[in-house]
Amino acid sequence: MFDVIIVGGGPAGATAALYCHKAGLKALLVDKATFPRDKICGDALSGKTVRILRELNLLDSLQNLDGALIRRITFGGPSNKQFDLNLKNSRHSEHITQGFVIPRKIFDNFLFQEAKKVTEVREGFSVKEILIEGGIVKGIIGNDAHGPDEEIQADLVFGADGYNSVVARKLGLYDMNMEHTSVAIRCYYEGVKDLTDQIELHYVKEVNPGYFWIFPAGGNTANIGLGLSKEDVKKQKKNLVKLLDDVTASPYFKDRFADAKPLEKPVGWNLPLGSIRRPNFGDGFMLLGDAAGLVDPFTGEGIGNALVSGKFAAETAQKAKAGNNFNAAVLSEYDTRLWDEIGPELNVSYKLQKLARSRFLLNFVINRATRNEKVRHIIAGMLANEIPRKDLSNPFFYFKILFS
Ligand SMILES: Cc1cc2nc3c(=O)[nH]c(=O)nc-3n(C[C@H](O)[C@H](O)[C@H](O)COP(=O)(O)OP(=O)(O)OC[C@H]3O[C@@H](n4cnc5c(N)ncnc54)[C@H](O)[C@@H]3O)c2cc1C
Repeated sequence: MFDVIIVGGGPAGATAALYCHKAGLKALLVDKATFPRDKICGDALSGKTVRILRELNLLDSLQNLDGALIRRITFGGPSNKQFDLNLKNSRHSEHITQGFVIPRKIFDNFLFQEAKKVTEVREGFSVKEILIEGGIVKGIIGNDAHGPDEEIQADLVFGADGYNSVVARKLGLYDMNMEHTSVAIRCYYEGVKDLTDQIELHYVKEVNPGYFWIFPAGGNTANIGLGLSKEDVKKQKKNLVKLLDDVTASPYFKDRFADAKPLEKPVGWNLPLGSIRRPNFGDGFMLLGDAAGLVDPFTGEGIGNALVSGKFAAETAQKAKAGNNFNAAVLSEYDTRLWDEIGPELNVSYKLQKLARSRFLLNFVINRATRNEKVRHIIAGMLANEIPRKDLSNPFFYFKILFS
């Protein structure tokens, strides 16, 4: 009998396990994969991830992993103008001034192994069913490859099992909403020219209203990809692999890819966007990370929010255990805390995602920023949360840029 069974050992589940340990809870972490395993991703770790890892005393170890240290973000527009934001110029010392790109095979394994040091784990264990008694979740049913079904009981089950969450499906909370789901493809390359310490987001016309990314991934390798909403892909009948070929061969990028070699066939996966608030708890369970649909609709980042959800779920579980009450009313605190924390920025990001549909506005902002340092400062301040991001959805923000 466990206090918590965590289904899925990705960033959400491994973080939840680490916080469960801090909270003195007896947790079991299960994953159908055996680590290290790959996860299709852009591999970019933002300030939110860095903050949580610092809280877990894991930042020094993270810095030693293979990957790239990021100090700048490049934004490119539909007319191929681009500008750089320097992360290290933040005036406030509490702001994170660096990010990382670490291949998920390495990052997820690192976090999983840290969790394994303090948590019982079952790798290669697939969850098939949820154990429910009197309408209350009481555990899981699953098996090792080719093994017999096993029932494991716990006071709480965390569904941290990603986009296709079996926990969400079995509990009737899975929601594949085309408008609020993106699809993206990734391809590792070697030999892309001009990789330094910047991640590049190019809102190029070929991919509009989505974007194309070039992230240095350590050594001579790069993580290349692009993403669009599922609805746009369907409506515009876009083939993402062909789009990626078109962009890398386009006049603006072809020199950088002249000597580059793909290291794999492009691979794709879905991103459940936090542009809607999906139900994420009930009697005896909580959903975390992608299983709860927490990906930023503007940037496609999901790892930071997955980590935040892991922390809040474990802290809510600690309270539930203290009161020996695991019903939905008690667990609703998880949903409230999570959305108080990430809801406002997800709302703004949803507005920005809509705004990015306008090539005119994108060109306008990016062209001004290429020419004007003050505008770059406004945007840098916004990204570092020195200027509320909600300003971006306010028409006055554009006047400010126009007259800066
Ligand atoms: C192409 C692409 C690019 C992206 N780029 C970025 C980026 O650069 N930065 C960023 O922050 N985010 C990015 N994201 C989003 C990010 O990948 C996710 O938000 C993140 O992986 C969510 O973590 P998670 O722990 O919730 O789920 P996952 O990482 O999906 O982990 C879920 C785990 O559950 C396990 N599991 C699944 N089903 C079962 C089962 N039945 N039984 C047992 N175990 C199970 C899986 O094996 C897996 O280990 C990108 C996504 C895509 C698709």
